[in-house]
Amino acid sequence: MQTAEIVAIGSELLTPTKTDTNSLWLTELLNEIGIEVMLKTVVGDDRLRLEETLKDSISRSDIVITTGGLGPTEDDITREVAARALGLELEFRQDLVDDLRERFKAYGYEMPEKNKRQAFVIKGSRVLPNPNGSAVGMMAETGVKKLVVLPGPPREAKPMFIDHVLPELTKSSGQIAVRRKRILVSGLGESKLDELISPIYTRYENPQTAILHSKTEVEVQLTSSASTVVEADHLNSELAQKIVEKLGIAVFSTEGEPIEKVVGDLLRERNEWLSTAESCTGGLVAQRVTDVPGASGYFAEGFITYSNEAKSDLLGVDEALIKKHGAVSAEVAEAMAKGARERSGATYGVSTTGIAGPTGGTDRKPVGTVYIGIAGPHHSKAILLNLPGDRNLVRWRTSQAALDVLRRHILKAGDERTVPFARRS
Ligand code: AMP
Ligand code: MG
Repeated sequence: MQTAEIVAIGSELLTPTKTDTNSLWLTELLNEIGIEVMLKTVVGDDRLRLEETLKDSISRSDIVITTGGLGPTEDDITREVAARALGLELEFRQDLVDDLRERFKAYGYEMPEKNKRQAFVIKGSRVLPNPNGSAVGMMAETGVKKLVVLPGPPREAKPMFIDHVLPELTKSSGQIAVRRKRILVSGLGESKLDELISPIYTRYENPQTAILHSKTEVEVQLTSSASTVVEADHLNSELAQKIVEKLGIAVFSTEGEPIEKVVGDLLRERNEWLSTAESCTGGLVAQRVTDVPGASGYFAEGFITYSNEAKSDLLGVDEALIKKHGAVSAEVAEAMAKGARERSGATYGVSTTGIAGPTGGTDRKPVGTVYIGIAGPHHSKAILLNLPGDRNLVRWRTSQAALDVLRRHILKAGDERTVPFARRS
């Protein structure tokens, strides 16, 4: 298998406000044709460091792809440094200047002299046209190694790569396809999950299995390689099926979809409606549900009832109940869910009430104590969770658990106790 590395060039990528996103789609496209990305580097507009980086990467990898630093200004140094790293000269191309001058003219401008810089290309390289900008790209070869130089802006670099680089790399990669499958799981911790499925996946070398933990879910990622995409997908599906069989309802997606999309599809298929009643999540559950296009087909109403008065006025939660058990209690969570369902006429009501912190915790109800209420046509209940993390994380995990409780309720598994970090109430 050929190896590639990506060098993202630009000092702006080393500031807190800008990230390298080019390497993400580049990696995806390279993987699809069986080229593995072994290293990524972000380097500022600095001649010495860039030259060193490029020399190293060319000596290590079969294919090196750079993005950025091809603008007309003095800080754009990729052309010059890439040529030096390869030990080649730059060559001035009058035809590129003529073309650029024409393009400026078409928009009613005169080409600034600075843009002439963009007509210097690495001697002997193949010039990659850029219909979306003024910087051409380049593909240079030294022996068996390839250096591909792309502009920084994704809307210029991506079509250039797809149209002029990918076909050539596909030819030389030997047509090995690498495919990934994402199985998303909620309601099981990472180690419990691994205990269940490692006897299965360790029997396979292809696909390879990785278990990744994010703030709200665990992902089982399968990566397979084969001579065709169809074959690689087939290898993934075979192992995925075994894993899904073992994990059962804890798997909420085998296509990498977020849980709000999965829940939305379930509601739409059944022609059922959802309303939410949120306290500690302040509308996050409703926001996630309505982030999905088409949510108007199944989302009825979102109540944000932060105060006790709002819980009583808007949802009809008995004041005495709040007084007796506290706003963060199973009784109130259940009453909130019922109230949301009844007041809106939806099929399901789901509620959240908890202590997100950092203040407000007590010995009996520490920060992270959260109740999720669920009310459906046949029964209602509340589930207690103890969620670790700061305020932001507690709120996110609560919203995830609320959607998962709803999902399990819809699927009538009666298995809601296994939501993450759940403990018996
Ligand atoms: P350039 O003039 O070729 O250096 O590219 C400049 C612009 O491209 C930057 O201002 C960014 O907006 C964008 N850009 C450069 N590198 C990247 C990258 N690795 N990922 C995403 N955008 C990038
Ligand atoms: Mg730049």
